Amino acid sequence: MGRDQTVNHTIFEPDRRTPVLGEYEVVVLGGGPAGIAAAAAAGRTGRSTLLIERYGFLGGSGTMAGVANFCGLHANVHGEFKQVVHGLADEILERLQHKDAVNPPHLSLQGKIQAQTYDASAYKIVADELLLASGVKMLFHAFGVGMLKRAERAIDAVLIESKSGRAAVRGGIFIDCSGDADLAAWAGVPFELGDGHGNTLYPSSKFTMNDVDAAKAVHARRIIPELMEAAERQGRRFPRRGAIVRPQKFGQDWTANATLIKNPDGSAVSGIDVEQLSYGEIEGRRQCLEMFQFIRGSAPGFENAYIVDIAPQIGIRETRRVVGEYMLSEADILECASFEDAIGVNGWPVEAHAADRVIIKFPKIPESRGFNHLPYRMLVPKSMDNLLVAGRCASMTHDGQASARVSGPCFAMGQAAGTAAHVALEQGVPPRSINVGALQQRLEADGAYLGKA
Ligand SMILES: Cc1cc2nc3c(=O)[nH]c(=O)nc-3n(C[C@H](O)[C@H](O)[C@H](O)COP(=O)(O)OP(=O)(O)OC[C@H]3O[C@@H](n4cnc5c(N)ncnc54)[C@H](O)[C@@H]3O)c2cc1C
Repeated sequence: MGRDQTVNHTIFEPDRRTPVLGEYEVVVLGGGPAGIAAAAAAGRTGRSTLLIERYGFLGGSGTMAGVANFCGLHANVHGEFKQVVHGLADEILERLQHKDAVNPPHLSLQGKIQAQTYDASAYKIVADELLLASGVKMLFHAFGVGMLKRAERAIDAVLIESKSGRAAVRGGIFIDCSGDADLAAWAGVPFELGDGHGNTLYPSSKFTMNDVDAAKAVHARRIIPELMEAAERQGRRFPRRGAIVRPQKFGQDWTANATLIKNPDGSAVSGIDVEQLSYGEIEGRRQCLEMFQFIRGSAPGFENAYIVDIAPQIGIRETRRVVGEYMLSEADILECASFEDAIGVNGWPVEAHAADRVIIKFPKIPESRGFNHLPYRMLVPKSMDNLLVAGRCASMTHDGQASARVSGPCFAMGQAAGTAAHVALEQGVPPRSINVGALQQRLEADGAYLGKA
């Protein structure tokens, strides 16, 4: 039978009995920055907590997509750089420092903000250690594939597939940190995708080079985009304008954020479409090689460089964003909005990866305080009573997400969601109905900065 005849047909699987792997007070789906912080926060309150992760390590895009750089921990506060995300983020930084695995903050985005590079392997270990110390059980190589409800507005179990087969994990409160709002979508929570015309931020595949002569390459960040522009004037075409090529923790390692993955029709490759993801991985690796050859052939200091790693997977910036009780918007970012129910802050600008370029928009510098509050309501999805959503799939508009999707605010959202799960269980109410003052008090006691002073 030819392929075309089977497309668009469905088959019926026989009914099955699914073993229950366990039951936890808090179940976190996804182990990126949001999931790490959510699970650690919930575990520390003494709640039995399980984190489900499809890969064999934590870190999310920070490890699986080769990011290796914390953005959004800092803000430009009236012209002065200040770390504004604290709490569990501090502990992650301290643990990395203890392993000599994180650099001091460096300037980013035309010198208007700071970011911090780290060693990705050390980050994986630090995240394991943090969660073990917080009493969290980690279930790796487990892909969440569905859910079952116990009532119209309550999830009973997440279904997972793994080498051990299919299983269910029951929970009291679920926290969706999948980056793609997988669990929320399965539960029927309303979500948005892209800018209203189907365009999401464009993905990129990242690669790391070794044997770079750091002294000769010192101006690479400026020179490589200039070399690209000169080549374009000669008729050469690159996947995107400009490239971010910078040293990692160890001077001879340099990462390149230099690709932009489009479908053949020019649209962004979707992170929730398996056919497009497959195409995107191949196209991403092709672009990595193309850009590496250009850099090695033209940029001072890269003459002997080689690719030591292409990230395990294509880097996805945006897929589903849930519709929650409040949607964080671009205006909130640019106007440094304040909210009564603040659970943390975000100081990263709007960084929109469009079809051929990156558009950056900052709040006014130095007039503004340089950060916005993150309201608790952006973690509370509409229509479900035992679900919270944290990280890049939380409730934000397309343009708001282009800012608050980076690691710093994801840590803040995750810590708040994990703590809120405990508060909800303690108060015996759904997360949407908790006393937010009690949550804020607990977050501050745990070292989080809520941007009040
Ligand atoms: C190319 C690129 C460059 C970037 N550069 C930076 C940068 O320099 N600094 C910065 O701070 N941010 C950067 N970002 C953004 C940042 O890395 C992410 O937005 C951030 O990691 C989002 O965190 P998260 O926890 O919400 O989701 P993610 O990091 O996406 O983590 C989601 C986790 O859930 C797991 N998961 C997903 N679905 C399932 C499922 N069904 N079952 C089980 N597990 C699942 C995934 O494997 C993953 O571990 C970049 C992003 C990209 C793509």
